[in-house]
Amino acid sequence: MSTYHQTYRQLCQSLIETGATIQPVSAFSYDFNEKDKIFYPRNIDENKKYIIMRHDVDYSPFSALKMAQVEASLGLASTYYILLSHDNKKLKKLLLERLDDVIPCLKKIQDLGHEIGLHYDFFGDYFSHKIDPYENLMKSKAFFEQIGIKIKSAAAHGSHRVRKKVGHPRGPYPVNYINFNIWKESRNSNPTIHAGTDSLDLPALSLTENDLCEPYFIDWDWYLSDSGGNFWGVARKNDGQIFESLKKEKVRPENAVKENLKSGQIMQILVHPVWWAPNGNLG
Ligand SMILES: [Zn+2]
Repeated sequence: MSTYHQTYRQLCQSLIETGATIQPVSAFSYDFNEKDKIFYPRNIDENKKYIIMRHDVDYSPFSALKMAQVEASLGLASTYYILLSHDNKKLKKLLLERLDDVIPCLKKIQDLGHEIGLHYDFFGDYFSHKIDPYENLMKSKAFFEQIGIKIKSAAAHGSHRVRKKVGHPRGPYPVNYINFNIWKESRNSNPTIHAGTDSLDLPALSLTENDLCEPYFIDWDWYLSDSGGNFWGVARKNDGQIFESLKKEKVRPENAVKENLKSGQIMQILVHPVWWAPNGNLG
C-alpha cells in the first residue's frame, strides 16, 4: 500500500474513533422541501453524529478503487461520484482508451459496498460542445445502467472549462455557473446563463423527476472538503461560522468532528482521490 493510502487509512481510522456514524449519501432517504430547496434526511437518530463520506472522482478511478478498498477493509461505505464528460484529454484517455479497465474498476467499487453516483459537468459539455443537458443526463444514466450500476445521486463538478469560458480562470468560482444550477431544485434562480455568444435557459433538468439527490442540497450542518489539497470547511447554520484551511491551522478532520459535530447533526466530508494518489491524475 502506498504511503498516500496509508495516510488515508489513518484518516478513516481516526474518523471511526470519533464514534460518528459514517455512511454514503443514499444511506438516508430524503424529503425534498420545495420552499427551502433542501433535501431533508429522514430517520435521523438525535443521539448519533453522522458523517456523509463522499468522493468526487475526477480523473482518478484507480486511486478511488484503492481508497474504496481501504474503507471497505475498515467496514466503511461511502459515495464515489464518477465524472463522465466529453472534453478533457485526461478523461478522453480514460473513457475512450481505458474504458475496459475503468468499467470493472467502478463495478469493484460498488461490489465493495460503496455507492456510485454521477459527477456532472453539464454546463461544460453544453458550452463546449452544445450537448443538450437532458440528453447528457439520459446518456449518463444509461451508461451506468448498462454496466449494472444504479445511481441515486449526482454531484456537481467544478468545471475549469466553464471558468475559462466565462473569464474567471482563478479566484472564487462564479456562483451562477456552478453546475448544480442546472436543476430545478437549485437554490439559485438565474433563468439564463451566458458564455461567449452561447446561452442556456435554466432550469434545464429535475433531480426529483429523475429520482436523484444532490449532496450540495442536503441539510448538512457542516461541510468539509480537501479541494485544492487542504481541508477546509463551512458550517451552514451557526451564523456563518467558518473554519477554513484546516491544514494550515493544524486542525485535523477528526478534530473538526470532535469539536464541532453535535448529536443529531450531519457533517459531509468530501475527499478527492486525486489528492491521495501517488501518481496524480490517472492514478
Ligand atoms: Zn470534480
